[in-house]
Amino acid sequence: MTDDHEIPPAASPGIVPPYLLARIAAAPEETWRAAAQAARVTLLVRPDHHRAPPAARRMRRVTAPVASARVPAPRREVADAQHREVLPGVIVRREDDPPTGDPAVADAFDGLGATSTFFREAFGRSGIDAEGGALRATVHYGRAYDNAFWNGERMVFGDGDGEVFRGFTGSLTVIAHELAHGVTEDEGGLRYSGQSGALNESLSDVFGVLAEQHARGQTTEQATWLVGAEIFTDQVQGRALRSLAHPGTAYDDDVLGRDPQPAHMRDYVVTPDDNGGVHINSGIPNKAFHLAATALAGYAWERAGRIWYDTLVSRVLPDTCDFPTFARATTATAAAVYGSPSNELDAVRSAWTGVGVIDEHTG
Ligand SMILES: [Zn+2]
Repeated sequence: MTDDHEIPPAASPGIVPPYLLARIAAAPEETWRAAAQAARVTLLVRPDHHRAPPAARRMRRVTAPVASARVPAPRREVADAQHREVLPGVIVRREDDPPTGDPAVADAFDGLGATSTFFREAFGRSGIDAEGGALRATVHYGRAYDNAFWNGERMVFGDGDGEVFRGFTGSLTVIAHELAHGVTEDEGGLRYSGQSGALNESLSDVFGVLAEQHARGQTTEQATWLVGAEIFTDQVQGRALRSLAHPGTAYDDDVLGRDPQPAHMRDYVVTPDDNGGVHINSGIPNKAFHLAATALAGYAWERAGRIWYDTLVSRVLPDTCDFPTFARATTATAAAVYGSPSNELDAVRSAWTGVGVIDEHTG
């Protein structure tokens, strides 16, 4: 199940999982010429992943959340790769610069802003590194590149092939998902394979949808709970890349196949592909978060989101954390923050028993 000789454990390959690109790459050429070609090229590109040196990460103090007014907003910087696969590209917009007229630059700039506002206002966190470090992005990476990814230093966006994918800068859930990988990595990381990898993916999906809910002012009832609702063209039979409310139902398409995500441990997928199913089995912790958040109702980032975030930054999670360990850590956080008994503790415990990760009696 460990195949991290291919992708470094803390690196994520991007918002579009490799199994989906492989399906598109094999699509019939007569109808999906551009998409199939773009997916093949995207699968071949292996961008470098940068990590902060471990010593620097260890030395950072864990600070208690402070009022968002006192947390500085990180400065943004967007570059244009001009359709080459060279980073960072040419810097085209800094924090105080006016719009360039390029919608991809504007969308990336706004998406970085909305994500950083979410982390600041919801959790008192300034930037990915929690120290107000600049937020950087590069747009127009490669030609018809079918992905968006966090490379350890910046958010990188392809333009998509135009047949299956429209491009990725227009989706706040995608931007927040990728930046959240940076947050997880900064907080000690969760090894990107098997269950710890699925938890890493799930945390990014959770913060991805929460950033959108926060930007739109949506309650758990009003939210779509979809990741990447904007990235498919009209030719695709699908609402989004993933659904936290109903894992396994985001798309069902001739070319893409059917959304493979399980929503319960009984359907856990054992596979060597996708780093041990990190984008597949993430459906289980995703559903657990959705259950906890909807049980508590209101704004999901205020209580359920807070519990998940505090659990991550408390740094109690081992690098190879499995689902039950994460479930117990979130219930411990809920008890510590809200007390025992409390509605919050009940909601979190019921969520994990609801997806079969912990047992009602022993959990
Ligand atoms: Zn991811």
